Amino acid sequence: MDKFRSGPTLVIGTLLLFFMLSLPAVADSSIAIAIHGGAGTINKESLTAEQEASIRADLEAAVKAGYALLEAGGSSTDAVLKAITMLEDSPHFNAGKGAVLNQDGNVELDASIMTGSDRNAGAIAGVYGVKNPILLAHKVLTDSPHVLLSGEGAEIFARQSNIQFENADYFKTPYRIEQLKQIQEQEKTQAGLDNSYRESWFSTVGTVAVDKFGHVAAGTSTGGTANKRWGRIGDSPIIGAGTYADDRYCAVSATGHGEYFIRAAVTHDICARVAYQDLSINDAADQVINKDLVEMGGDGGVIAVSPDGEIAMTFNTPGMYRASIDSQGQLTVAIYADE
Ligand code: ASP
Repeated sequence: MDKFRSGPTLVIGTLLLFFMLSLPAVADSSIAIAIHGGAGTINKESLTAEQEASIRADLEAAVKAGYALLEAGGSSTDAVLKAITMLEDSPHFNAGKGAVLNQDGNVELDASIMTGSDRNAGAIAGVYGVKNPILLAHKVLTDSPHVLLSGEGAEIFARQSNIQFENADYFKTPYRIEQLKQIQEQEKTQAGLDNSYRESWFSTVGTVAVDKFGHVAAGTSTGGTANKRWGRIGDSPIIGAGTYADDRYCAVSATGHGEYFIRAAVTHDICARVAYQDLSINDAADQVINKDLVEMGGDGGVIAVSPDGEIAMTFNTPGMYRASIDSQGQLTVAIYADE
């Protein structure tokens, strides 16, 4: 009896094995991640060697932490949250701790995240005291029926969601206090803004990633622009302007002069060019950042990733704080345009 049964079992087992081996590996997409810490007038004279080394170290640590999650089989959303919270916790960037001050000397935060598999999104704008705004944006995505919450309502939602708050002093660095003073003094004398401070207008942070399932995600977090007033909101929390992700085409996070990025719908436009013109993400980003935005007068840049692991880091300013680990596992950390 056993002999009789083992023949067909062996044949079926062998066929099954061949069938399984011939199936495409579902969870075998190339993983890749890119981060930015803002684009702007960053030149070698505006940073001391120590500042530069510390900024590069923070970029490297964040991109490696995000990549480690992807390598371990984590989702692109997890990688985006990890890298951005680390950049928010670093005092070097205009997000979370170290964010720019508004006209009243307060830190007012914006953030957004989008997942490419379902094109779901969460965003918050004009929020005070939230340690990691990207985590709150993600809560909006997962735990609310809305996409964008602002101001007091967003803070109430944050408290209900057990999001961590910090007091005002946690966010304010001596550099940002001095920056605001200088901007406001120069405003009084109408002498225009000192270029050494312009880079800090655009030191928003962002991350894009693709995981081994081919799902992309993008996130962006910022304090907006220094000396902003009237509840000004930039592009960073606006889906399609500062952040966009669609598994079919790309994930993009922007940094730059937000008013232009809103008007040009930059991150959606890049994905749309991939969709409708069949462009690579590098060509699409190049057209939008180096042609359309330049014609409009908008400064800044983007990072983008495609579902098959291509990375673009494109900007029309002298520098953009950036780092990536590509589908070959190659690490890049860079600041200036010529590196
Ligand atoms: N895009 C941001 C804004 O306009 C600023 C930045 O990128 O640093 O709010």
